[in-house]
Parts: sequence; structure tokens; C-alpha cells
Amino acid sequence: MRAMDDSFDLDLDYAVSIAGRALRSMAEQRIAPTPINFAVWFQYFAGSHDDLRNAIDLLIDHNRPFDSRTNQDLFETYVAPQVSAIVLDTSERLHALMGAAKEFLATAIADNHSQMEAISEVADQGKAGVDPKALVAQLMNELARAAARATRLEAGFAEKTRELDVIRDSLSKSEERARTDTLTGLANRRALDEFLRKAQATADWGEPLSVLMLDIDHFKTFNDSFGHGVGDQVLRLMAKVLREKVREQDLSARYGGEELIAVLPAADLAACAEIAERIRHAIAECTITRRSTGEVLPGISVSIGVAQYRTGEAITDLIERCDRALYLAKSGGRNRVVTERELDRAGAAG
Ligand code: GH3
Ligand code: MG
Ligand code: MG
Repeated sequence: MRAMDDSFDLDLDYAVSIAGRALRSMAEQRIAPTPINFAVWFQYFAGSHDDLRNAIDLLIDHNRPFDSRTNQDLFETYVAPQVSAIVLDTSERLHALMGAAKEFLATAIADNHSQMEAISEVADQGKAGVDPKALVAQLMNELARAAARATRLEAGFAEKTRELDVIRDSLSKSEERARTDTLTGLANRRALDEFLRKAQATADWGEPLSVLMLDIDHFKTFNDSFGHGVGDQVLRLMAKVLREKVREQDLSARYGGEELIAVLPAADLAACAEIAERIRHAIAECTITRRSTGEVLPGISVSIGVAQYRTGEAITDLIERCDRALYLAKSGGRNRVVTERELDRAGAAG
């Protein structure tokens, strides 16, 4: 019996060894062996998924714990879109429908031909001196058949068009879902990775490219005091401010649990720092109200790191620099924006 999903195409012994490595590593890191967590770590050790591997390696490099939220994020971003294969299914349906539509058009054209032939036959008979009354009757007969056929064709065409619209909608919805973070509605890691790759290609031609990374200050304390649900509301509010403050051509994404990121093509360090400062200020000005009671809660602040891409470097280096700037903003007292330039100064001083 073949128990493996074909998409992995692994043999049983190899799959068992990968499963063993995944479980051992999960135990070492105290990750609960739930199906979702296991799927993430199995894929990681199977090594067939570069984006997932890079994301996990980056988290390991930064000593990030793999709590249930991080694992859930990884699952939703990298594993679920593959497993569900909704997009694939829809695109297969689309192909099938396109085939049917092509056949339908071919039938319509053939019908049209046979109609023209029938009518020209009647015309030939007219030349041959057949009784005009009989000819008119025959012609009317042909025209009535043509009209009936045209009506049928039109109905069929409308139906195919409707089917096509439904498929197109579901295709773009599922593509959208696979690229969106469910809690914040921002782009997820997968969409972020893609955007960064494209932006990097443009930046290698000389355009500036900058990123800002935002982390909520003392969020754990906030969650502990007011509950995770209120915390989630805050996170959504932060996402909204971020989305509103960046420009149309920028991408705002959820990088991790409470860390958001914005990628700004064609913006240098100074321009990006200015936008970061506007974001920080707007968030510090927000009034947070507990929906159920109307109670006004203590204000929230964020720390932001800013870095600019250096031609030819790896995107992970850019992110790492941005993360270090963010860390400096935290250690410098929080509720502030720090750019990579201050890293150089801190480095020179240290
Ligand atoms: P710091 O100022 O140093 O950033 O302190 P912090 O408490 O924000 O930092 P820490 O990394 O210790 O904690 C992050 C917290 O963010 C812990 C976790 O409960 C919370 N968090 C992460 N993701 C979510 C989420 O999706 N919803 C909620 N409500 N909380 C989250
Ligand atoms: Mg954090
Ligand atoms: Mg934080």
C-alpha cells in the first residue's frame, strides 16, 4: 500500500527517518507534537521547501523560540497552501472549462457553416426556376431553424461565461487567501518573500530599497493584563496604521507573532525612516478602548528598525540588519525609530 502523498514522493524508509528527526528535534525544542507542528517540522527536515527552510533557519539564527503561534504562522504561510492545493484544483477546473468553451465555439462555427450552406442551396433552387412559393416557405423554415439555434447558442454561451466568472472569482480568492495573514489581513511571509525577491531584482539595477520592522513594546505584559483577545485587537490596529502609512507601492506584512514589516521600494534610508517615524507617532497617539466595556486602556508604543538594501547582498542580511536596528531601538528605551546608521555608530563606540 502506498501511504505517502505523491507530492512528497518519498520512499517509506526515508520518510520514517525524516519523521524521526522531526520528532526528536521537536522534543529538544519542547514543541508539542500536534499535527500542525509536525507538518511544519517534517517539511523542514524533508528539505523540499526552500522558503520554509529559510524562514526557520532565520528564526534559529535569531534565537527565536518556536512557540505555538510561530509554528501556526509557519504552517499557515508555507505548509497549508501546499497541502490544500485549492489553487491547483481551481486552475484545473479552469483548464477544463476552457477546453469546453473551445469545443463550444467550434460547434457554433460549424453550425453557422451548415446554415449558410442550407440557405445557399435554397438560393440555387431559385435560379433553377423552382416554384417561388415553395422556396419562400423553405427559406422561412431555414431562418426559423437558424433563429432557434442562435438562441440555444446564446444561452449556452451565457452559461459558460457564468461558470468562468465563478471559477475566476474562486481562483483569485484562494490565491489571495494563500498570501494573506488571517489575523491582521496583511501579507503573510510567503507573499513577503516573493515581494522581496522581486524588489531585490529591481534594486540590483540601482533603485533604493528599504525595509522597516516594527515590534510592539511590552506586548506580553499587555496580553497578560488584558487578555489575548484584546491583544489581537491591538495587533489588528497596528496593522491598520502600518497599511495606511505606507505608500501604494509598498508592501506591509506580518513577519512573526507581533512583528510587522514594511518593504519600501524606491525609498532610501532617510525616506523610510521618515515613514517609520510617522507610523510610530500615529500608534503612540492611538486610543485603545476595550470594546465590551468602553474602558480606555493604557496606550501602546512600538519600536521600529530601519535598513536599506546594499546591492548584491542577500535579503536575509538586510532583514538581519533591520532586526539589529530594532533591537537597538528596544535597548535604547523603546517607542523609537532606529536606523542601521546608528548600528555603525554603536559598533564604533563599542
Ligand atoms: P518588547 O518590548 O521587548 O518587545 O517586549 P514584548 O513583551 O513585546 O516582547 P516578547 O517577545 O517577550 O513578547 C512578545 C509577545 O507577543 C508574547 C506573545 O504573547 C505576544 N504575541 C505574539 N503574537 C501574538 C498574537 O498574535 N496575538 C497576541 N495577542 N499576542 C501575540
Ligand atoms: Mg517580539
Ligand atoms: Mg514586543
